[in-house]
Order: sequence, then structure tokens, then C-alpha cells
Amino acid sequence: MFWQDELRKKYKNNFHPTTLIDVGDGWRKIVETLVEGIAKNNGMIMQLKEKFGDLRCYFHTEKENFEAISHLVVAAEMESSQTCEYCGGLADHKAIGGWIKTICETCYEKDISNADEKTTSCD
Ligand SMILES: [Zn+2]
Repeated sequence: MFWQDELRKKYKNNFHPTTLIDVGDGWRKIVETLVEGIAKNNGMIMQLKEKFGDLRCYFHTEKENFEAISHLVVAAEMESSQTCEYCGGLADHKAIGGWIKTICETCYEKDISNADEKTTSCD
């Protein structure tokens, strides 16, 4: 079983039934810490995915827990923006095939050498 599925099963009361964990292995620790924190604060995760290279988490909770969870989400999103989504190494944003990804040099080299056409950074 994938770690994403295990995590959803372990915290099934804190995931909306249709919510998938749609992120790469490099963010496993970030996501596990975040989900644990949201569960402690009685949050419900609506979406957990990668968008424009960063982790995005949308959640529902009671008003009194909103601020605590927001802090956890912001911290996780910030950490993800410097963490390779593939290997967990130190990374920054790069353009791959028209998408922005948070990826380290090593994974980036591997990825572009596998790609048919070279991509260029758009910054
Ligand atoms: Zn990497």
C-alpha cells in the first residue's frame, strides 16, 4: 500500500471521503506531520495536493481551531517550497514541461535527460 493511502486510512475521520493525497514521496514527512496536526485540532482535510510547485491544503474546522490549523498549513506549504517533491532534498522551483515543480538539481537533471524536449525556466 502506498503511504498516501495508509495515511488516509489512519486518519480517515480527518479526510473528506473523496480527498486524495496527491503529492510525491519527497513530501511524505511534511504531509504526515501536517495531517497529524490537523487531526489533533479536529480538522477535516478537503484537498491535499501540489499546485504551482507548492503543497496546498484546504480544510474545514470549527472556528476555534481555524487559526491553529492555518499556522500548520502555512508552515507545511513553506517547507514544501524548499523540499524536492521526489526525493525530499533541498530544492527550489523549476519549470518542467510547462509545469512549475519544486525539485532538486539531481532529480531535475534526471527528469530533463529523460524528457523528449528540453524545457526552459521561465523566471
Ligand atoms: Zn530530488
